[in-house]
Amino acid sequence: MSRAHRLLAGELAAALARPAAQQPDWPDPERARAVVASLSRAAPLVTPAETARLADRLAAVARGEAFLLQGGDCAEAFAENTEAHQRANLTVLADMAALLARRTGRPVVEVARMAGQYAKPRSRPLDARGLPVYRGDLVNSIEPTPAARTPDPARMLRARADAARAMAVVRDFRPGTRPPPGESGRYVSHEALVLDYERSSLRVDTSGPEPRLASGLGHFLWIGERTRDPDGAHIAFAALLANPIGLKIGPRTTPEQAVDYVRRLDPHGEPGRLTLISRMGHTRIRAVLPAIVEKVTASGHQVIWQCDPMHGNTYTAANGYKTREVRHVLDEIAGFFAVHRRLGTHPGGLHVELTGDDVTECVGGAGGLTAADLPARYRTACDPRLNAEQSRELATAVADLAAA
Ligand code: PEP
Ligand code: MN
Repeated sequence: MSRAHRLLAGELAAALARPAAQQPDWPDPERARAVVASLSRAAPLVTPAETARLADRLAAVARGEAFLLQGGDCAEAFAENTEAHQRANLTVLADMAALLARRTGRPVVEVARMAGQYAKPRSRPLDARGLPVYRGDLVNSIEPTPAARTPDPARMLRARADAARAMAVVRDFRPGTRPPPGESGRYVSHEALVLDYERSSLRVDTSGPEPRLASGLGHFLWIGERTRDPDGAHIAFAALLANPIGLKIGPRTTPEQAVDYVRRLDPHGEPGRLTLISRMGHTRIRAVLPAIVEKVTASGHQVIWQCDPMHGNTYTAANGYKTREVRHVLDEIAGFFAVHRRLGTHPGGLHVELTGDDVTECVGGAGGLTAADLPARYRTACDPRLNAEQSRELATAVADLAAA
């Protein structure tokens, strides 16, 4: 083992020994260890060269020369992972990117939430029936029985195999609309949540300012709102990665905390290494985001500012369906652009939950979906997604804001 390998192995062990929120309680830890060992022998899904190319593209976003468009299912599900579904999602993302590129005259970097988005953080450990909550197909089954909800480490093997098939679809995908000039490749991302899965495809990368660990499980990985304890395992793990990383920041984030994250996750000041994904809610973004942007900008780090207009705007409709209103989503995006325009910073990207399928999960939009329409085609395994029509409408609105 080289010195870099030894050092990183020690740092990884120390990171993973920290407290980790939202981890599955595997009933048979020995079996889970065996699964991780077997995953570690599988071929990586993405190459370090692709990840490095994305890092270059994200540096351009951080400098204000390009826009980052990220989107896909809230949760990928084994049963829904058909090629038709994946191609529909890639098509709507490509259409949105093409529209944005055409209207703004700037390249758009497209990153799918795909090929690994199988684990979900949850607000409560038990559901309304008193069963262990569904934590994504990587961990347990959505079926409401005690047996199906028991975490099963073998699901990590299925997730990895499905991710490999999804990656093949991504590689093979050619949109009808041409990608904008200068853009090549299409990238994948997911939330780095279940650390047994995330630790299973790491190799030492010495191409950066210090030896780091390149994840072979996705080009871009992000840390979610519920696992961003600054002293917890997820942040320490992300700090060791060579991949570009994202961090969700909710409305209770203080400017001081934001700067602390930026120092931990971008210690070498690499433009675009870190994407701060604000998910404040449409009523709060205008009040909360400015001080964060000002303080981080003053720190000298060049992060990407990305707006997730979905997760701060979720509510339960009177008929019990979890939903979001298109007008709230649009209002949060408008607030995001207004804040950055006023401060002279770059509104660098958008992170959305969407599908190319004709679902009825979010209300509003030109199609005029109401809460009464939700039961018709409510298919998500977790959060409500924009459908193809709502997504294209959103892209038009964003293009208006970005081109202004
Ligand atoms: C998500 O992106 O699906 C998610 C759970 O987001 P957040 O961590 O921002 O709540
Ligand atoms: Mn979600």
